[in-house]
Amino acid sequence: MARYAYVNGRYVEHREASVHIEDRGYQLADGVYEVVGIRDGKLIDEKPHIDRLDRSLKELRIDWPVSRNTLGFIIRELMRKNRLRDGLVYMQVTRGVSRRDHGFPTTPVKPALVMTTKATKHIVADAGPGVAVKSMPDIRWERCDIKTVALLPNVLAKQAAREAGAYEAWLLDANGCITEGASTNAWIVTHDGELVTRQTDNGILAGITRHTLKSICNSLQLKLVERPFSLDEAKKAKEAFITSATSFVTPVVKIDGEKVGDGKVGDTAKRLREEYVRFSEAGEAVT
Ligand code: PMP
Repeated sequence: MARYAYVNGRYVEHREASVHIEDRGYQLADGVYEVVGIRDGKLIDEKPHIDRLDRSLKELRIDWPVSRNTLGFIIRELMRKNRLRDGLVYMQVTRGVSRRDHGFPTTPVKPALVMTTKATKHIVADAGPGVAVKSMPDIRWERCDIKTVALLPNVLAKQAAREAGAYEAWLLDANGCITEGASTNAWIVTHDGELVTRQTDNGILAGITRHTLKSICNSLQLKLVERPFSLDEAKKAKEAFITSATSFVTPVVKIDGEKVGDGKVGDTAKRLREEYVRFSEAGEAVT
């Protein structure tokens, strides 16, 4: 079956999909992106993801490449063409194609929109054995709230984690506090049963999964505090976990080779994953 991508107005075979070499995303990382999770043919949290795309575009003064309605249509059309049941939709908007210059183009250019899908295995409620994370210095810029394609520090941190046998990197600020993961938000559960995740500001990406999980915590009457937490506190925590559109809620059982709690998946992370998977079953399937 041919796999399709969407590139600036056309659905093309994925292996042939390409953009111009002077696309500002390619040369200058002058663009933003979104990733929406798909489970059982349903888009998870579509609206907040597209709201965040809108915010990222506004922060960088990039125009919408198509209307919001059209974007929704393209997402569904691509899912249909690729018969996507489980996985993700990736969309990227750059400032467009223009002769290379750091400053914005002086003549109007149309922002470029590309979209791909990726099939993954069906995510189940069972959390499995949990994952290991490795701490790394957070060397990113001061606008981590914008979901830009400029991901080099995240790429290097993820690679270092993988080379150390870990699934994710946890990024450490100058105060020894964990900001977030290379591509996930970071959480701990204290011995008093309190959930802790860093407050959203320019230092981290306001994860959509993080936001949904906050509401789930509320409905379960779990106590949640948004504040910085240190690497040391995380290592001594009862539980730890990460959240993202593609990893849902994934328990962390080891930090820098040291066990978190008893080194097994904790009850809170387990329960929250189950609840999040249940939440992901809501919504309308794209057929
Ligand atoms: N932080 C970073 C740096 C990320 O790249 C991601 C993934 N988009 C997240 C957090 C999690 O965000 P979301 O729950 O919206 O996928």
